[in-house]
Amino acid sequence: MVLKVAAIKESAAGERRVALAPEAVARLQALDIDILVERGAGAAAWFPDEAYEQAGATVLDADELRKTADVLVSIGQPDAATVAALRPGQTVIGMLRPLTDPGYAAGLANAGVTAISLDGLPRTVSRAQSMDVLSSQASVAGYRAVLTAAYVYDRYFPLLVTAAGTARPAEVLVLGAGVAGLQAIATARRLGAVVRAYDVRPASAAEVESLGAQFLKLTSVAGAAGEGGYARALTPEEQQAQQDELTAHIAKHNVVITTAQVPGRRPPLLVTEAAVSAMSPGSVVVDLGASELGGNVAGSRPDETVVTAGGVTIVGAGNLASEAPAAASAAYSRNVCALLTHLVHDGAVAIDLADEIQAGIVIAHDGAIVHAPTNALLNPPADAASTDGGTAS
Ligand code: NAD
Repeated sequence: MVLKVAAIKESAAGERRVALAPEAVARLQALDIDILVERGAGAAAWFPDEAYEQAGATVLDADELRKTADVLVSIGQPDAATVAALRPGQTVIGMLRPLTDPGYAAGLANAGVTAISLDGLPRTVSRAQSMDVLSSQASVAGYRAVLTAAYVYDRYFPLLVTAAGTARPAEVLVLGAGVAGLQAIATARRLGAVVRAYDVRPASAAEVESLGAQFLKLTSVAGAAGEGGYARALTPEEQQAQQDELTAHIAKHNVVITTAQVPGRRPPLLVTEAAVSAMSPGSVVVDLGASELGGNVAGSRPDETVVTAGGVTIVGAGNLASEAPAAASAAYSRNVCALLTHLVHDGAVAIDLADEIQAGIVIAHDGAIVHAPTNALLNPPADAASTDGGTAS
């Protein structure tokens, strides 16, 4: 049996990535998988339709593709027209955000499809590393954040000694030292900046230092490691103390890059209005957490760059991976190939919820939500419905 796996064209505004690159065709042939691609799906990532055809894929219009595919693969949530055309038994794979948009997952369960959301992949299972889209995309975003900051910052990043005098190196502060933060640190170091970084997970200190950056030790939060390698949310008191302590450090830096996230929650506010006001004119802040729900930086707006009255440029960069779409799509595509290698047996997607990887990512199957955290959001116990103000919705 041959399984037909289709890459759909992304519909979100500004999204330039595509879920499968042409090189995936050869990789998946061994699994008896044929690749279909929606016409124009890869164009914005510099993968034209002809490149897919030359690799052996079939390029189809959206209607035909939705009818023919067994599995639809996307970056973000497929749009309403795609969901309306789904039929029971099909599989949808993407970053479906069930914890921030459980209603969308419920719609997929109602459509009778198997929904697989790669943003739920367990990070601590080593055999899942090759499928880890959060890491691959965060890595691109962290790299791109530094290039964005360096371009907007109207001085040099490295120390430069020239006949016209010596330019001091930029002082860069990275807040949040997960995958994006570590890549930002490494990139800023390569450009010659002096880099400091901070994270609430004490384990990140050694990683920061191994990249040649200095780890800031704050006294306000002793450590906030949570489950699965992630950070836990801080209490309001801890958050206030952390913000106050960070403000003095932020003021001494020319460039601040923020990457802090807590799964399923609004990004924590790390750079307050007071901290932005304390920065020198010409300073730059890049907020990777910028979203409609608010980001790590007061005054940041997704996909917008604002210059404050005090001359600080704040770049709201919620989707930087999409700004390097060829690199990001190539990595995402490899992650999807690794996932399909894990899931597909005898030409069919084999669902096994006892598998610890699948338990994290299979959201809907056989007409029901099978992912406990999503179920808990859709059917909260009566007494817990109105108590959690910090959860993203
Ligand atoms: P993330 O995107 O959820 O968050 C980014 C960083 O923000 C994290 O390091 C987090 O600790 C930090 N943060 C959260 N709240 C903060 C606050 N108030 N102040 C300062 N920093 C704050 O994290 P991520 O990059 O997806 O990484 C999550 C974890 O998964 C990390 O421990 C990472 O090392 C781990 N990981 C492991 C593997 C693997 O072993 N296979 C792969 C990828 C990531």
